[in-house]
Amino acid sequence: MNKGTLDALNASIAHYERLLTGEDTSIYDASCALCIRFGCGYCELTETGEKCPVGSCTAEDARWIELNRHIRLRHRETGRPNVANCKTCVDLLTKELEFLKSLRPPPDLSQGDTK
Ligand SMILES: [Zn+2]
Repeated sequence: MNKGTLDALNASIAHYERLLTGEDTSIYDASCALCIRFGCGYCELTETGEKCPVGSCTAEDARWIELNRHIRLRHRETGRPNVANCKTCVDLLTKELEFLKSLRPPPDLSQGDTK
């Protein structure tokens, strides 16, 4: 994973952490560093062909789609997750956050700090 993609992934992880604390409430592509880098629904860099590590964010089985659908259905009035009062929002955001963290490459053991 190159640095630009890793930075975007870490920014996306930070975004989901803010969503879970209620600090941020927008789940949409303009708030996702990976969507900004790769293009939401396109999910690939034109110049290099590098693909978004999440895969296709519009695939039917994407967790994000499930979250988006839930919010449209249950939180139509705000269009935003309700982490204070909705267990489904918390569960879906937590699952996405865990998935994003699992995409991070393992720490490079050759660069010191090994015990
Ligand atoms: Zn909800």
